[in-house]
Amino acid sequence: MLVFESAKELQKFLREKRCEGKSIGLVPTMGALHKGHAKLIECSVKNNDLTVVSIFVNPTQFGPNEDFDKYPRTIEEDKKLLRELNADILFLPDVNTMYPNGKEFLKMSIPSLSKYWCGASRPTHFNGVVLVVSKLFNIVRPNNAYFGQKDFQQYVIIKKLAEELFFDINIIMVPIQREESGLALSSRNKYLTDEEKKYAPLLYKALKAIKENFQKEKNVERLISIGKKILENSPFKLDYLGIADSETLEPITGEIKPNQKPVVLIAAYLGTTRLIDNILLYEPKAMEICL
Ligand code: AMP
Repeated sequence: MLVFESAKELQKFLREKRCEGKSIGLVPTMGALHKGHAKLIECSVKNNDLTVVSIFVNPTQFGPNEDFDKYPRTIEEDKKLLRELNADILFLPDVNTMYPNGKEFLKMSIPSLSKYWCGASRPTHFNGVVLVVSKLFNIVRPNNAYFGQKDFQQYVIIKKLAEELFFDINIIMVPIQREESGLALSSRNKYLTDEEKKYAPLLYKALKAIKENFQKEKNVERLISIGKKILENSPFKLDYLGIADSETLEPITGEIKPNQKPVVLIAAYLGTTRLIDNILLYEPKAMEICL
């Protein structure tokens, strides 16, 4: 596996590979890699000649009181896993490489999609995400880029970003990878205490109950109350639990119509750790998802 810290050197290397006709897959990450990331990387390795994995804890997507400083950094373990997965290239830039003119130099935002859900609780988060992903897209110019369903709002925003800026890149979603308990894998699970870990699977239990009831119940408010009941006597502090249109991310209220493609979205705190999860109430198209 080749490791590049310089964007310019990576660009030069990939220019040559592109001339040789090689296809390129990109998997953007913030490191502390786990089996969720591994699934994205496996999808890329299977479907591209070259896979570039980036590890960059992006400061512009963290709010002032968020966990940028304490975000887990496990670069040696990450490199080992990347080699085992046959990733070809690790892009490991520092902040000056990604923000050569300072973090405040350029701003981007997609307010129409960022105003809901995680964007409502983390108002600048998606601005940082679209900025860093645009930079990575321009550096790597991949044919395919892989994003986890775990961050569903992020996936929708990146798809729109690619459409709006004419990035010639297929944006592919990879299903959520879970622990046996049902808890969605996340680098932030490291923050959970043993006691909190006992309750953490309730998030997925609530989502599954909503999906099961969706067979016969189409009323959003009644579906949500089924999910809330499951979290009722737990230490979870709910940030949001709602049903959204999976393209516009607009909250759906009242009855869900047969032509709608709904997704249930949840975010909740266990102690100081914020966990997110979701479940689709529709079948995604085969071209959009890498199973
Ligand atoms: P992160 O390092 O948390 O920024 O995540 C990098 C990518 O991995 C994002 O596209 C995430 O959505 C994806 N990802 C993280 N956890 C999971 C998971 N449990 N299942 C699938 N994808 C995931």
